[in-house]
Amino acid sequence: MSEIDNVTGLPNGVALLSILENLQPWSALPTGFAVHLVYIQHPRQGKVRHPGDGADAILIEVARRLRRLASSEDIIAHYGNDKFLVVKFSDEPVLRGKLFAISLRNELSMPIRLDCGAISVDATVGTVVHADDSGTTEMLLQLAEAALHAARCEREVDCNCCYTMSLPYSIENDKPAQDLLTAIKSRQFLLYYQPIVRATNREVEGFEALLRWSSPEHGMVPPSEFIPTAERTGMITPLGSWVLTEACKEIAVRSPTQCIAVNVSPVSLENGDVATDISTALNVSGLEANRLAIEITEAVHLNLTNSVARQLNKISDMGVRISIDDFGTGYSSLSTINAIPVSCIKIDQSFTRKITSDSTSKIVVQTILEMADRLSICTVAEAVETEEEASIMTGMGATALQGYLFGRPLPAQAAFGNGQAFHAGIGLGVS
Ligand code: C2E
Ligand code: MG
Ligand code: MG
Repeated sequence: MSEIDNVTGLPNGVALLSILENLQPWSALPTGFAVHLVYIQHPRQGKVRHPGDGADAILIEVARRLRRLASSEDIIAHYGNDKFLVVKFSDEPVLRGKLFAISLRNELSMPIRLDCGAISVDATVGTVVHADDSGTTEMLLQLAEAALHAARCEREVDCNCCYTMSLPYSIENDKPAQDLLTAIKSRQFLLYYQPIVRATNREVEGFEALLRWSSPEHGMVPPSEFIPTAERTGMITPLGSWVLTEACKEIAVRSPTQCIAVNVSPVSLENGDVATDISTALNVSGLEANRLAIEITEAVHLNLTNSVARQLNKISDMGVRISIDDFGTGYSSLSTINAIPVSCIKIDQSFTRKITSDSTSKIVVQTILEMADRLSICTVAEAVETEEEASIMTGMGATALQGYLFGRPLPAQAAFGNGQAFHAGIGLGVS
């Protein structure tokens, strides 16, 4: 009997059983694992299939996305008509398993382009985390089916996408991680937008997207309070993918010309596939690549390994600009400029704060601006709060300015509304 599904090229259900059997004894595996049973729903479902109706193309695309999300050592199978199964290996199967389930759903919910137009696929994921060395392959698959069933029932109530059968143990005592996971699952994040103005005429040339957590318990939580947890646990990767797509969609709808800057965590650059996330975001939103900039903090955190540098080069080759955020605060400012294709430098707010009172800061900023100018790199002065700071920075050659003087970060509706006023030259601070 064939063990390969001839539409997707993936192992089928029969092959999967023997692959899973071969994993036994589970206690001898070097890492833990989570099993994700994915059920897809789409408008072509339930109809009699015939070649060219798109049903096969949907399965092929789903298989392609699963391959992209999984690592080479993970197992992917086409487990029956509209079901796929992914076995994801990890040292932290509970947390990673939950995050992976969220990524699966996000990735699969992106529209699929067919000859007859784009189609939306709805994915539900049932996850079983293997937390106990006892058990059989059969039990594992039964649990996965039960998890999927629970996820589908639950979804009808509160749109939950992932259901995990074995309860978390590794994040049981990690309250910040638990809260963040709940927040991701219940979509409690939103983006604020802050204008960036051209220094010479104060016109809004773009916006920076800044993440906020709207917590039912704590109100609007700033990124400084949750990004560290997101980075420590790896949750920054699904969160960062969402930010990219959301920000690109918003600017594409709101403005035909302005640009959007999105902060990308060094953790995502080191562990995730930011280049693919960017290309998905551009595809889904229809935004031109040259209207997107990613901001990376050059501070000590950015470990410029070959793979990070390769990824940044790939992103730059796509036409997306790369900005170095908080420039001047790390140890590696100058070597960063040398190693990656930098389009823009954002001068850290600590310099802006001191520019009117401290002559050394002024000399440092002047030197950075002159260097950037000679390298044809644009410059943004961050956190400009007063006219005096704005005019000193402009006089020294900063090409753009950002700060409360020109507008605070605000939800999309309010931020883009203000953008119109700035176009008319009304550059007043918004409080
Ligand atoms: P950042 O990228 O340097 O963003 C600028 C920060 O300065 C923002 O803080 C902004 O609200 C604040 N700011 C802007 N103008 C002024 C001003 O005139 N005065 C003062 N005092 N502050 C000003 P926020 O929104 O709290 O973000 C803090 C940091 O969190 C960001 O620094 C960025 O590193 C990180 N962050 C924000 N959103 C994201 C995201 O989506 N992903 C990642 N990985 N990091 C993010
Ligand atoms: Mg930034
Ligand atoms: Mg900054």
